[in-house]
Amino acid sequence: MLIFTKKDLRFYALMIVMLLISIVTPISLNTNKIEETTSNAIDTTCILIDAGHGEPDGGAVSVDGVKESDLNLQIANKLKDELALKGYQVMMTREDENNISGLNDDSTIRSIKSQDINNRVNLANSCGADFMISIHMNKYEDPKYFGWQTFYSKNSEQGKRLAECIQSGIKETTGIDNKREALKIEGIKIIDKTTIPAVIVECGFLSNSDECVKLQDENYQTQLVEGIICGVELFLKRGRSLFLNF
Ligand SMILES: [Zn+2]
Repeated sequence: MLIFTKKDLRFYALMIVMLLISIVTPISLNTNKIEETTSNAIDTTCILIDAGHGEPDGGAVSVDGVKESDLNLQIANKLKDELALKGYQVMMTREDENNISGLNDDSTIRSIKSQDINNRVNLANSCGADFMISIHMNKYEDPKYFGWQTFYSKNSEQGKRLAECIQSGIKETTGIDNKREALKIEGIKIIDKTTIPAVIVECGFLSNSDECVKLQDENYQTQLVEGIICGVELFLKRGRSLFLNF
């Protein structure tokens, strides 16, 4: 049988209190640190949203005459609103149906497209955004293909990570079993020439009649937008956890 004196009890009580302090204190400090970092990152993160194409360049057109440029803008606007609600700073390359070449209608469509892309790249490189998301719609001669796909440049590891996060984020929110993966492409100026991480999100195929209908549906557009945001937050959290581990 063990017999404790008052002195022993005081000693053990003191040891227990010190042990509790040593366990609890680092956790509460770490928690504060993570929360502080999280809110700072969200307050200062600035995202440039690029609605691809714009009159007179409608981009891809479905057999029913649905224009890519219109759907790109609808989804880009939804994305802007949702990101702003979450406290992110958001900028847009275009906010109406027109391209941003600054050229008049007398110019050839080729020169308008070329100047338009140059202006978008220059904006991305000078506006102070942390990264850019370029919204597009896909089209292919065989109508059987469907599903979103993200693209990144070989020049950007961060762009690759962002593309992978968005690819899986949309899978999460739509619940659609899309086997496509984020893909590296070359020779696409909007992501090759930008100095910030940049990704293209091809939201789906206008050449697939079922998907073309869905892409015009407000609820599906919202699911796509939520998926992109899910990817953005995955991308940012990974960045922060790497920072904290360091
Ligand atoms: Zn496009």
